[in-house]
Amino acid sequence: MQTLPLHMIDSHFHLLSIERKGIEVDSLLNTMQEHSMEGIDIGLDANDLTARAKRFGGYPFVHLSGGIGPWGVKEGEAPIDSQLETLQEQLIKTNAVAIGEIGLDNHWDYGSKVNQEGLLTAQMEIAEQRNLPVIFHNREADEQFITLLRSRGFSRQGVFHCFQGGEELAKLAIHKGFYLSFAGPLTYKANKGMQELFTKMPAERILLETDSPYLSPNPMRGRVNTPLNMEHIYRFAAELRGIELTDLIQQVKTNFHSFLRA
Ligand SMILES: [Zn+2]
Repeated sequence: MQTLPLHMIDSHFHLLSIERKGIEVDSLLNTMQEHSMEGIDIGLDANDLTARAKRFGGYPFVHLSGGIGPWGVKEGEAPIDSQLETLQEQLIKTNAVAIGEIGLDNHWDYGSKVNQEGLLTAQMEIAEQRNLPVIFHNREADEQFITLLRSRGFSRQGVFHCFQGGEELAKLAIHKGFYLSFAGPLTYKANKGMQELFTKMPAERILLETDSPYLSPNPMRGRVNTPLNMEHIYRFAAELRGIELTDLIQQVKTNFHSFLRA
């Protein structure tokens, strides 16, 4: 058994993608279980929820979300309406705890802002109907998200995953009841602004995640990421905030359960 701290939450990972990178996911899940880890296996497209439920539904510490990311509007993808229909069918058959990841991405060339916003808001409606929180993906879209958040209320507290936005969006998101989840990039030397922002955010609104298999934290950068690397993120984050590791782990666990209402 590896010596990892106990009870770490990883609020965002993609197990099927980790598996595709050549990691033994069943032994990974066993190690996570041995260390009382808990987290959410996150959806990427309309089709993956049922398959993930079949594959990981037996692990009670793995929650599932379902959603179509901004890449769903790429040329060559199925029409948006049929993707949304597929997602709805799969949500009925599984017990997803959140809708996501969904969002806006101006970094990659996925498709027009209008189409991305259409797909995003349609899924925000689904989340409202199903009384589920949303998991937002934001890449270089602070302004659009600011406009969107200002124009709406949310019945459930959502989360901005892998937060890389600016202070204005961070403050508004907190004001609207959202959580901000920080990932491996928090540990990168170049991200001083993000680190400073992180230390200013209220403790009760912080979540932490790996976004595995992507974005490995220091000192694992460049390798395939897994939820076991949460240790590096927790240690770095605790040091930044000047608090004990065990206190941060407990705080994030409390936050995560209030996000899930579980
Ligand atoms: Zn993700």
